[in-house]
Amino acid sequence: MKNIDNYPFKGKKVIMRVDFNVPLNSQFEVTDDTRIRAARQTILKVLEEGGSVILMSHLGRPNGKPQEKFSLKHVVPAVEKVLGKKVIFADDCVGEKTADMAAALKPGEVMLLENLRFYEEEEGKPYHLGKDATEEEKKVAKGQVKEKQKEFVKKLASYADCYVNDAFGTAHRAHASTALIAGHFPEDSMFGYLIRNELDAMDKVLHHPEKPMTAIMGGAKVSDKIMVIENLLERVNNLIIGGGMTYTFIRARGGKTGNSLVEEDKLDLAVQVMEKAKQKGVNLLLPVDNVVADKFDNDAHRKVCPVDQVEEGWMGLDIGEETIRMFSEVIMKSKTILWNGPMGVFEMSNFRNGTVEIARAIAAATEKGAFSLVGGGDSVAAVTQFGLADKVSYVSTGGGAMLEYIEGKELPGIKAIRG
Ligand code: AMP
Repeated sequence: MKNIDNYPFKGKKVIMRVDFNVPLNSQFEVTDDTRIRAARQTILKVLEEGGSVILMSHLGRPNGKPQEKFSLKHVVPAVEKVLGKKVIFADDCVGEKTADMAAALKPGEVMLLENLRFYEEEEGKPYHLGKDATEEEKKVAKGQVKEKQKEFVKKLASYADCYVNDAFGTAHRAHASTALIAGHFPEDSMFGYLIRNELDAMDKVLHHPEKPMTAIMGGAKVSDKIMVIENLLERVNNLIIGGGMTYTFIRARGGKTGNSLVEEDKLDLAVQVMEKAKQKGVNLLLPVDNVVADKFDNDAHRKVCPVDQVEEGWMGLDIGEETIRMFSEVIMKSKTILWNGPMGVFEMSNFRNGTVEIARAIAAATEKGAFSLVGGGDSVAAVTQFGLADKVSYVSTGGGAMLEYIEGKELPGIKAIRG
């Protein structure tokens, strides 16, 4: 593994995996360029050192079929704006013309390939098969795609002298551009700054946390986060649970949850988590009060009640004031904080307060010297929406990848480079 800081990029061509999977409006304009800006430092580093860059990314889920709405040509103006440079667009990934364009690329120039996922080879999945294909047909087709994938990877690798991966958001996928291509550059593969920063932030939280350490888990379901919770129980002093997953725990403890979100088949799991927390000496905090509504609607009737006294016909959609005070007190005393998942249905203004207040407490603890890592799509959206993104230590750009890393899984995109 090489280091981007001192790699000799002068005169070299770099093939770089970035995550330009950005939201577009109906006019195909980029509505949020965060991910493009996140790759800026790495791209500019190569250019400043006298190298040239061939960018590759996916956009959406075209499932192996070229489609106008998923074309990366739509992001070219946004990339040009972020880099302050012209970007040459290649309208495929592995055509003759594209190979010629890559060969003609001069130091300081940037080229962007078309959406990698226009090719089945990127993900290695036989999307062309119908749903009613037999298991045997699927097996044969998968084998064929995997064979074609080798050629695809080889072709992409042939454009460049070295490989940089800076797409943390897809690091948990074993795709052609995220994992396999590194094999063609055994001595010349490296992480970009974004991935490096993500890994530093996560390692700090997981492996060298200053104590006390608090994890705050929210969001909809226990089932999505159970592996993360289990791994965190080995590491944290406090585990705060909020959001929809609260109610599976409350029901498991025998509380009344009314029409709140409960995963009936996860009650045993919730009991196990509570027991494991006790065994490990982890302070597991559940909400004590909540804001309940008579329907899943911003304009529903609302009232506050104890979290284990939710009546039939009512559902808990946010944490209450007493809970906010209790959670905030623990957060303020923490030196390391990890936050994933909102405390309530923050997309609706009447059920946003708990998430806002917890985000504020994390910001305040950070100001006092704590290290705070916020990750996962919805908590990132929340801190951004509340204007607090620059008041926490690190905002992770890769929700799924971050969760898998915290679960303790080896991410293929990381392993391919780190070994
Ligand atoms: P996740 O993707 O698992 O982090 O879940 C995020 C989603 O959980 C958001 O869309 C929230 O609206 C939702 N959520 C948070 N709290 C609740 C709740 N009490 N009841 C239902 N959904 C919730």
